[in-house]
Amino acid sequence: MASTVTLEKTTTVQSGDTGVGSPKTVLRSPLLMKGRKVGDGGGEDATDNCCGHRCELISYDKLPEFLKHNEFIVDYYRSEWPVKEALLSAFSIHNETINVWTHLIGFFVFLALTVCAATMVPMEYEVSHTPLVASTGLDNITGNAMVLRSYSADGAAVVAMKALRSNVSVETGLAAALSPPAGLRVARWPFYAYLCGAMFCLLMSSACHLLACHSEHASYVLLRLDYAGITGLIVTSFYPLVYYTFLCDPLFQALYLGFITASGAAAVVVSLLPVFERPELRWARAGLFACMGMSGLVPIVHKMLVFGDRPEAVLTTGYEMAMGAAYLAGVVVYATRVPERWMPGRFDLAGHSHQLFHVLVIAGAYAHYLAGLVYLSWRDMEGC
Ligand SMILES: [Zn+2]
Repeated sequence: MASTVTLEKTTTVQSGDTGVGSPKTVLRSPLLMKGRKVGDGGGEDATDNCCGHRCELISYDKLPEFLKHNEFIVDYYRSEWPVKEALLSAFSIHNETINVWTHLIGFFVFLALTVCAATMVPMEYEVSHTPLVASTGLDNITGNAMVLRSYSADGAAVVAMKALRSNVSVETGLAAALSPPAGLRVARWPFYAYLCGAMFCLLMSSACHLLACHSEHASYVLLRLDYAGITGLIVTSFYPLVYYTFLCDPLFQALYLGFITASGAAAVVVSLLPVFERPELRWARAGLFACMGMSGLVPIVHKMLVFGDRPEAVLTTGYEMAMGAAYLAGVVVYATRVPERWMPGRFDLAGHSHQLFHVLVIAGAYAHYLAGLVYLSWRDMEGC
């Protein structure tokens, strides 16, 4: 049966403290009515799809309490839509459309990066090449180690990974003839744990933005999954940093990994409390996640104290600073609700703070992915 989702916009713009003082308007944009059969008599009536009322977009003041998160976004809300209509609304325009798609596209980008890494970065059980280059003295051979060394130095990650791929066969052949028995590369799980953490965060966020409008219970469950996703991203971001930096120092490695994992578990428990999602606790939520993220400064400073003269350490720290700056900007935008607080109603569909926050999260996560590649190349070359 054809969808009869009604995305008709019947807008009553409020005047008063929102600063939007335009008279009542009824907006029937074709874009906002996508998917609806209006009076064509060819499908079930839209009224039947949404619990006795139309699946129409409504204004903030008509929302039930559980959907009131941001009074500066005045309009284009979905409220208590059936699951099917909420799912289909990914392809229509409302105030969550861009929030859904920014992180859904981000999820697929990270899925592609994971596949890329799995196919282009040598597996940990492949031959070790450091003994090969050292023992043969063939400095002119552009084997993996040499490629990765230059890649670490100039940060040209993508170019290096392509070069890496093209050189695998050269070195593998030489290794068979010249190298000592193959050794293990450094473990890959911290790098892939991070990629999984990033994908989980992006997917949960996207699902939350798409389906939380369904019901109070759905909103409660999905928001918890969203918070768990953010926590998972932060925790797993520590894994490559700590594991590879302190590869040769099991005490600090265990200390930092244990600390961040325990902090993440505590954050998930705290986020299960119903009070956690109250709008007035926006700063507390932002603060909790920001503190977890900021604690990453400790192992980073520790890394620079120990390995400050190493280009790999400097390069990874640069990526981590870029990630931190993106996340920090995201947290500030999220908590201050800029720019919509300056012009309520103006950014309902595009340009509001949460969309900016999403883009900054993806940018930060990508910077950390680049750092992860450098860590792998560093420890593959050096081991412990
Ligand atoms: Zn979000």
